[in-house]
Amino acid sequence: MTDNASDDTPGFAELGLRPELLHALSGLGYEEPTPIQREAIPPLLNGHDLLGQAATGTGKTAAFALPVLQQLPDRARSDDPAALVLVPTRELAMQVSEAFHRYGRELGARVLPIYGGQPIGRQLQALDRGVDVVVATPGRALDHLARGTLRLHGVSTVVLDEADEMLDMGFVDDIESILQATSEQRQTVLFSATLPARIAGLVRGYLRDPTRIRIGREQAGPEAAPLVRQSAYLVARAHKPAALGRVLDMESPAAALVFCRTREEVDQLTETLNGRGYRAEALHGGMGQDQRDRVVGRLRSGTAELLIATDVAARGLDIEQLTHVINYNVPSAPASYVHRTGRVGRAGREGVAITLTEPREHRMLKAIERTTKQRITMEKLPTLADLRARRMEITRAGLRESILDDDLERFRVVIEPLTEEFDLMEVALAAAKLAHESSGAAADEEDEIPQVAQQTGWKERERREGRRHEQRGRGPTDGMTRLFVGVGRSAGIRPQDLVGAIAGESRISGRDIGAIEITDRFSLVEVPQSAADEVITSLRHSTIKGKKATVRRERDTSANRSS
Ligand code: AMP
Repeated sequence: MTDNASDDTPGFAELGLRPELLHALSGLGYEEPTPIQREAIPPLLNGHDLLGQAATGTGKTAAFALPVLQQLPDRARSDDPAALVLVPTRELAMQVSEAFHRYGRELGARVLPIYGGQPIGRQLQALDRGVDVVVATPGRALDHLARGTLRLHGVSTVVLDEADEMLDMGFVDDIESILQATSEQRQTVLFSATLPARIAGLVRGYLRDPTRIRIGREQAGPEAAPLVRQSAYLVARAHKPAALGRVLDMESPAAALVFCRTREEVDQLTETLNGRGYRAEALHGGMGQDQRDRVVGRLRSGTAELLIATDVAARGLDIEQLTHVINYNVPSAPASYVHRTGRVGRAGREGVAITLTEPREHRMLKAIERTTKQRITMEKLPTLADLRARRMEITRAGLRESILDDDLERFRVVIEPLTEEFDLMEVALAAAKLAHESSGAAADEEDEIPQVAQQTGWKERERREGRRHEQRGRGPTDGMTRLFVGVGRSAGIRPQDLVGAIAGESRISGRDIGAIEITDRFSLVEVPQSAADEVITSLRHSTIKGKKATVRRERDTSANRSS
């Protein structure tokens, strides 16, 4: 947060949040609420039910976590949870509970993630010690309910996060059972990226006159910039800094503005980029006006080539030299994308807007395309070979410039004696090598960045089923291991039940799961080789549609398949 809210957009303080929460947010470097936070927090604080259509990347987690945390200090002392958040996967359970932890530290909030694949004993102990917020996958929450170890009568808020994903994974019955175990007086909050008819059913049954919020459908303002080349790269979070470096090397921008979400991210990225030899400067709301002016001045004069900034700090900046706008994350709303992109391509000049997106954020990118009515081209990250070729091109361009320069005569004393000994071409090659290496172009030291697959919804998976069946009788896909699961069609198993069980019980997510084949008596599922043991162990300790199943690596598929 900053005090420089020179415009009329409300900051976190105006939303009515407690000082402890405001302090935590400022410590995390959040400068202002995202649109969904601005719209969702006030009605949630007033106790309304809420239906929010918002994808990952919009800041939806804080939108529901902050109001839940706000209420904690006012409740009567109890060791039973005051809030329950249901999420589709173990991965998300951990992320959401970490978010609650970060925001609720000063309030002493006790937060517990509950998911399959983790020893239940540890969860039992933690539940016994008392918790305020439980973040759970539906399957494991139901297990605890049945054991009587999760008591829900004190729960005043239930959040269904990524509800469409949970339904796709076959969790609808579990969710309904859990909701029925809570008080009818509860506040119910449902977030979903899409709102298919089945969600409407849940809303009718369990939400009372909810406030409805939709992010990503607003109309584009007139400022949508037509001259801007817009592209995006799909990158796993862990590889983002390297991916940004590679994109910068390919694009060689004269002056670029790189947008980050928080002050902390700005500082970290600036340090990383400087460490890699770029001339980067940080620009955020924690800096005084003089300091900011100096930094912008350095970009204008060419002393710096990159400005790493938050939205708040970059608001109103007009830098003529700017050639590139880079979104280090997908912006939290289409309007923010449009504003950022409007910094380049001004006055008839050409500009480039590049967005790095994690697979989970892909939906937000689609919402931006719909709003701006412009295509954002998905590009493949440059490979090491692309990068080497580009660096050679830069060396060649440098040499050409040098040849056209008339200041070469003084080097004759270097070359002429060598030509007596060597061929002129050899001398030229050696000179090129020296020039190339002295420019710091050492792509050989870098690792290849793995390409990641786009996250697909369940419908897309089903469309691919045809392709899956063609794979029958062949070995598993590269990098994948095929598992035998001893339940099949006759036990009512559908592909989404398997995806739900695996993603809910282990660290891998639905998109990591490969081909699925279901026969009457058993099923075959492809999972990444590296995760196979973990999936086997966790499935052995849980149930699929309430049934215990044999789970092992597939041995003899041809014999099995004749069934
Ligand atoms: P979510 O859409 O909830 O997955 O959040 C996406 C990311 O945005 C997370 O990394 C959050 O830490 C971050 N975030 C959420 N709210 C804000 C905010 N107001 N300012 C900056 N970053 C935020």
